[in-house]
Amino acid sequence: MQYPELERIKSKHPQLASIIDKLVGYIEREAAEGHDRITPPLAAGYLKLSEAETLGLLSLLEDARIVRPIYEIVCRNTNAVLATAKDRRGIREILPIHCNLCDDEHDAEDVRIELVFKLLPQAATTNAAG
Ligand SMILES: [Zn+2]
Repeated sequence: MQYPELERIKSKHPQLASIIDKLVGYIEREAAEGHDRITPPLAAGYLKLSEAETLGLLSLLEDARIVRPIYEIVCRNTNAVLATAKDRRGIREILPIHCNLCDDEHDAEDVRIELVFKLLPQAATTNAAG
């Protein structure tokens, strides 16, 4: 799968081209397995990079519109994703949130915030195309 915007980014950062390709390969594999999001720690483990370096690469893929960062608000008791927000300010607007599983209101101390990267349709259609 070719991503025109990604080719432009790779030509701007030629030293990163091979690791970007490896990350895109990882994302396409995840999409092929039916996953719609990737988590930075798992991607970092796959790439054998630090999480900070992986986040830097993911932000390049964000520029190429292959992924989009979202914050998941996760119940600490049940690990259920209660809501998503597109930025930190959005999280504050959502909390407190009612959790159906606990049948309780959850505030910041009751939830875990996880930054994940949603695969955008451009990446996901790779899956459909086989
Ligand atoms: Zn809960």
